[in-house]
Amino acid sequence: LERTFSILKPDATARNLTGAVNAVIEAAGLRIVAQRRIQMTTKQAETFYAVHKERPFFGELVSFMTSGPVVVQVLEGENAIAKYREVMGATNPANAADGTIRKQFALSVGENTVHGSDAPETAAVEIAQFFSGNDIV
Ligand code: ATP
Ligand code: MG
Repeated sequence: LERTFSILKPDATARNLTGAVNAVIEAAGLRIVAQRRIQMTTKQAETFYAVHKERPFFGELVSFMTSGPVVVQVLEGENAIAKYREVMGATNPANAADGTIRKQFALSVGENTVHGSDAPETAAVEIAQFFSGNDIV
């Protein structure tokens, strides 16, 4: 079984949608094997999104991700990385397929409700930023 890292972003916690999003995750056959609600610091958000630091939206992204609580999670399942990306839908909700989390819940390309790792290497790094082995059951 594969693991991926997920974040329910501040627009999800602000609208009290964490249970609704988790229901979609679980209905897709992904198991939530670790979960914690946190307030991300600017430093944590900058580290997490370091790959995007030259992008024009980096400042906006960091300020959004620290604008309220997030729920960080580890999801486990067969092909969990690809499966979760499919369940999330396109980055821009205008392009997201019916039934996806972003189609149902996202407000914009920035406030797009969820994050999911894009490859095994990034999943491992992202999980390690927020969870230790003992937290994942
Ligand atoms: P994520 O990495 O959050 O799972 P993604 O892989 O679909 O999303 P990326 O291209 O990695 O998208 O961008 C990371 C995040 O940066 C997006 O989820 C979104 O919140 C934000 N973002 C991307 N493009 C834009 C943009 N043009 N304007 C504002 N925010 C953006
Ligand atoms: Mg990404």
